[in-house]
Amino acid sequence: MIPQNTIDQIIETAQVDEVIGEFITLKKRGVNMIGLCPFHNEKTPSFTVSPSKGIYKCFGCGNAGNSVKFLMEHEHYTYPEALRFLANKYNIEVEEEQRDEASLEEEKLRDSLYIINEFAQKQYTNNLIENEEGKSIGLSYFKERGFRQDIIEKFQLGYAVQRSTDLLEKAKAKGYQVDLLKKLGLVTEKGNDFFRERVIFPIRNLSGKVIAFGARTLKSDKKIPKYLNSPETDVYNKSKVLYGAFLAKGPMRNQDECYLVEGYTDVISLHQGGIENVVASSGTSLTPDQIRLIKRYTKNITVLFDGDQAGVKAAFRGIELILEEGLNVKVVLFPDSEDPDSYLRKIGSESFKVFLAEEAKDFVLFKTQLLFQESKNDPVKKANLIQEIVTTIAKIPEPIKQSLYTKECSTSMDVNEQMLINEVNKIKRTTLQKKLKIDEANTPKIDGITTEDHSQKELNANEVDVDYQEKDILRLLLAYGDKEIEEGITVTQYILTELQEVGLETKLYKEILAEVNTTFQKEKKVLDNSYFLNHPNNNIAKLAIEFASSPYELSENWEKMHEILITEADSNYKKDIKSGIMRFKLKKVNKLIAENRIRLKELKPDDDYMTILKVNKKLEEMRNQICDILGTVVY
Ligand SMILES: [Zn+2]
Repeated sequence: MIPQNTIDQIIETAQVDEVIGEFITLKKRGVNMIGLCPFHNEKTPSFTVSPSKGIYKCFGCGNAGNSVKFLMEHEHYTYPEALRFLANKYNIEVEEEQRDEASLEEEKLRDSLYIINEFAQKQYTNNLIENEEGKSIGLSYFKERGFRQDIIEKFQLGYAVQRSTDLLEKAKAKGYQVDLLKKLGLVTEKGNDFFRERVIFPIRNLSGKVIAFGARTLKSDKKIPKYLNSPETDVYNKSKVLYGAFLAKGPMRNQDECYLVEGYTDVISLHQGGIENVVASSGTSLTPDQIRLIKRYTKNITVLFDGDQAGVKAAFRGIELILEEGLNVKVVLFPDSEDPDSYLRKIGSESFKVFLAEEAKDFVLFKTQLLFQESKNDPVKKANLIQEIVTTIAKIPEPIKQSLYTKECSTSMDVNEQMLINEVNKIKRTTLQKKLKIDEANTPKIDGITTEDHSQKELNANEVDVDYQEKDILRLLLAYGDKEIEEGITVTQYILTELQEVGLETKLYKEILAEVNTTFQKEKKVLDNSYFLNHPNNNIAKLAIEFASSPYELSENWEKMHEILITEADSNYKKDIKSGIMRFKLKKVNKLIAENRIRLKELKPDDDYMTILKVNKKLEEMRNQICDILGTVVY
């Protein structure tokens, strides 16, 4: 674990504009910097970075946070990884605290697995260069395919020999645990090498560490599987890895384009032909995780298909996943019985690049045309086709793109455009309804108020008011916590005392208040908004970002909608806090009075009439007091 004071130091030192500027181009606009958002597809910049507040916020998709959050989102780092990245960038020494036993063990295990994989990769590569069998079978195979020496080295290709315990013995001699070799799938349960008489393609993660192997047999025996792969391990999750991604990171970003191919050799061939923005899903069908991995670098994917139209149709579903993630998809078909690898060798890399540029077709239009040809004279088929296309279009998240496609498809299929639009909308509604149902089932309810997205839920006015009032009190607490509100009394002390009896209702706000309280009681320390910006609870951090990023917007709206008085730039925070608390209390007391009146009206036999009356009187007194104070504070 990284100690808290180091974390503080890292976050204080990190310049959000510098950190983000490493990944996307930012331009100065007033006190802020703006750029194209890396988290959604946009043409005009709505991604705003505030160097003074240390945060970024996209007004298009809502993604927001500080330097750490950006790295976690953009580079998919874990929290500690993001911190270490920043520490390294700003030369801050990280002295790790004693970690708990379990996580220490876990990391040790992962490290060992990486080390053993690297060892195995070196062995396999060595076999290819020095071992007679490796040279005559493995190396000559690669040479036959036309792979240059530099490309063989770049991809760390290798060869696993025939001898059944070759790798095992060498690993043992090095002192590696046989258990771990088995865990990695390098050695079988019986104690033999798993990969034998195969050429080896090491699979690396985004930071270049070897995490698994793909292995191809060179025998023509149909009973032997052509490819073998490492099993999933603590360091290898098949659905999250793309072959070639480590080498393609920069090129994908620079060229704003990713070529997706099917096999290892396609990736390698394209590299050799000078095309480096290429990855392969290597056998498995494309997963959402893999698509998101690409999305970190570019929004444009071109899928290179080998094989016939039947094969392409089988891949439609996978491609629609890409559309759902909001990426632009093109497809390229190769002439009969050619794959990218073979075709590139056949026509050479320059012609190949021209071919890609000329043949790439927009996926939706491509699908439309392909299916349309098949259904030309068959009305039933045509109806099915329309349904298909409409379903595809409905999956595209951006409305503008959707309407472009609807237009195009109505022309190319000769179908009424409005009819297509209606159908698309129908599907979108059904999907949305399904999604809302799932969300509802998954969101915990607190007194009828959900912690997220209250704007979309219909709440009764009172609950909304309470929520906004509570939120505003918190905002003021976190903004002015250490300032004095009265002589010798800080805002924190004041609000904690005032809220002691009534408390807050919304769970999220309660949590924040409790944390402020505990820290204040224990350490006499005042937690402010910047502390919560970096809070591990994402919902809390989100709220803090909201507080930090748009005080004006909020206060204006709130004032109008909920009679909360917030003066310009909070210059009058003392008044605001006092009136905020009083208005909040007033609302609560009014609610209690109303409830009590109902009890009086619907008196039950064992209700104590006198007590209820007394409570009523007490509550009304409280209300009058509050109104008095409000009268003096507010005006
Ligand atoms: Zn965005």
